[in-house]
Amino acid sequence: MTAKTTKPKTLSPPKTAKAQCLCGAVTMEIDVPARWAFHDHGAAARVAHGAAYATYVGSWRKRFRILDGESYIAPFENETAGITRHFCATCGTPLYYETTRSPHMVNIPRALFTSRTGREPRYHLRFNELQDWTYAGEALGPLKGFPGVLFERPKKKKRALPPPEF
Ligand SMILES: [Zn+2]
Repeated sequence: MTAKTTKPKTLSPPKTAKAQCLCGAVTMEIDVPARWAFHDHGAAARVAHGAAYATYVGSWRKRFRILDGESYIAPFENETAGITRHFCATCGTPLYYETTRSPHMVNIPRALFTSRTGREPRYHLRFNELQDWTYAGEALGPLKGFPGVLFERPKKKKRALPPPEF
């Protein structure tokens, strides 16, 4: 028989998740959990981020707040697409975007958050635009002489792709 131990009262998890740009001028927060999270493989997100794809956390606008640095935020409006993307004017970090189609939502890059947002990115938008140079979990090996660098061996010709390992 084990004696009952009195557990110290655990702190409740934070009710907000904070995000910030690279230079730290702009800080934002959302109430958690976020509404949803997703990967966007479309050209606009790819180029705006300079990355293979972008991963976003979608928040209700009323649960999103800019805490500091509002004067550093520069908008780029694409009227044709109905999308306004906001960047930090100092460091160029993509901060959030909003669309005329979903005016009650704000989408913030997942990478800007320093804590969990309450949603895992389980959705892939515009997956048909996935680039063939996007890393998709291929097997990697260490590169001799370069600690921390891994590389993917070139695919052999006339051989079917191995099945995914997960
Ligand atoms: Zn910045």
